[in-house]
Amino acid sequence: MLDLTGKKALVTGIANNRSIAWGIAQQLHQAGAELGVTYLPDEKGRYERKVRELVNPLNPSVFLPCDVQNDSQIESTFETIAQEWGKLDILIHSLAFASKEDLSGEFSATSREGFTQAMEISTYSLTRLARAAKPLMSEGGSIVTLTYLGGERVIPNYNVMGVAKAGLQMSVRYLAAELGSHKIRVNAISAGPIRTLASSAVDGILDMIRHVEEVAPLQRTVTQQEVGNSAAFLCSDLAGGITGQVLYVDAGYEIMGM
Ligand code: NAP
Repeated sequence: MLDLTGKKALVTGIANNRSIAWGIAQQLHQAGAELGVTYLPDEKGRYERKVRELVNPLNPSVFLPCDVQNDSQIESTFETIAQEWGKLDILIHSLAFASKEDLSGEFSATSREGFTQAMEISTYSLTRLARAAKPLMSEGGSIVTLTYLGGERVIPNYNVMGVAKAGLQMSVRYLAAELGSHKIRVNAISAGPIRTLASSAVDGILDMIRHVEEVAPLQRTVTQQEVGNSAAFLCSDLAGGITGQVLYVDAGYEIMGM
C-alpha cells in the first residue's frame, strides 16, 4: 500500500491551483506525509498570501519563502527544516523559468542572460537543493523533479527550456549515482503538457495539448493529480528500487513515432 505516514515532505513550486506541485502536494498529503511548502516571494507578499490560502487545508507545518536564485533563502529554508523536523524524507523540485521571449521563435536568438537564467533556475536549482537536503536525509530519502519531452526531442518553441531540461535529466543521473550510497533516490517525472502558469509562457501550448490528445495512446493529456499520484509512488517504499530514472507520465505520447 502507498503509505507515507511519518514522512516529511518539502514541496517547491506551488504557484496556484493549476500547479503540478499542487497536484503532488495533495497526493503526498493524502498518503499521510507531513508537508512543508516553499513559495517564491515577491515584494508585495501577494504570492505568499495566495499560496498560503491554497495550501492551508493540507496543514503544512513549515511554510517558507525560497527563491532558488538566493543562496541565503535556500540555507535558511533547510535550517528551519532541521530545527522543526530534524530530518527530511522527500523533496519535490517542481519549478522552472525562462523568459517568454525565449520560449518562441528562433532558438539561435536566445540571449546570454536568458540562457543563463533559465539554466540557473530550472537546472542548477535541483543540484543546489539536493546538496542542502542531503545532510537532512540521513535515513535515506527521495527527490523528484519535473521534466518534459522537449529536453530530449525538439518541440517547437520550447527552445532554451529544452536545453535546461536536458541538463536537468542528466543532473538526475549524476545526483542518483552520488547519493545512492546514502539511500537517497533521485528521479524525474516527464509530464505531458498541462495548462499552468509556466506552460502558458510557451508559445503554442494549446496546440501542443491538442496534438497530444490526437496522438497519445490514451487520446488525452494528463492531469496534475495523475502526476501527483506518480510522484507519491516514486517517493514511497513501493519505488524503493528505482533511482536515476525518467518516468513518463504523458498518456503514452513518448512511445509514438508518428
Ligand atoms: P507553475 O505552476 O507555474 O510552477 C512553476 C513554479 O516555479 C512556480 O511556482 C514559480 O513561482 C516557480 N519558480 C519560478 N522561478 C523560481 C525561483 N527563482 N525560485 C523558486 N521558484 C521559482 O507551472 P508547472 O507547469 O506546474 O511547472 C512545474 C514544473 O513542471 C516545471 O519544472 C515545469 O517545467 C514542469 N513541467 C510542466 C509541464 C506542463 O505542461 N505544465 C510539463 C512537463 C514538465 P511563481 O509562479 O510564483 O513565479
